[in-house]
Amino acid sequence: MEFSSKLLERAVNEMSQLPGIGKRTALRLVLFMLRQPKDQTIALSEALKTMRNEVKFCKSCHNISDIELCEICSNPNRKEEIICVVEDIKDVMAIENTSSFKGLYHVLGGKISPIDGIGPHDLNIDSLINKIKEGKVKELIFALSPTMEGDTTNFYIYRQIQDYKVFTSTIARGISVGDELEYADEITLGRSIVNRIPFENSIKN
Ligand SMILES: [Zn+2]
Repeated sequence: MEFSSKLLERAVNEMSQLPGIGKRTALRLVLFMLRQPKDQTIALSEALKTMRNEVKFCKSCHNISDIELCEICSNPNRKEEIICVVEDIKDVMAIENTSSFKGLYHVLGGKISPIDGIGPHDLNIDSLINKIKEGKVKELIFALSPTMEGDTTNFYIYRQIQDYKVFTSTIARGISVGDELEYADEITLGRSIVNRIPFENSIKN
């Protein structure tokens, strides 16, 4: 792609780093921004810059938050003895939308995936195990997507906490294999949390 302007080229190159955005789409977006009022493009770049610089991760559940302890963890009406283990913030948002869960979350930040070079220590697993060791947690609900990586991650955590008195469950797999949690409809997802099954039952078959 030949550019008449280095500034344009740089913007297109940066934009095309985004997933699903090829050079052509990047060019279309950048040209759109040039036609927009200047303020709008500046507001977008400011929003991205501020978010990147100032966003925090909750010190307890690792959810994205503007404050040290996120709104869910600091809410006294949430049951701190039940923790739902999820992969990322999109899953927290999906489960929160169902209004079916009143416990807390623990955001792992991914799944164990040897192929991608992601091991247990690349994820927020140690802090979860520490919470279990403190003895306040009575139930751990695994809500990772039902993929091989999800299963591996569940099983790894399950093995780590076997010596502690904590009940483990997994959300009912009404959601078909390969479906990501974030795409499940709210009713199905809500029901699958309410009708969760003991984790042991899920690994037998
Ligand atoms: Zn939190």
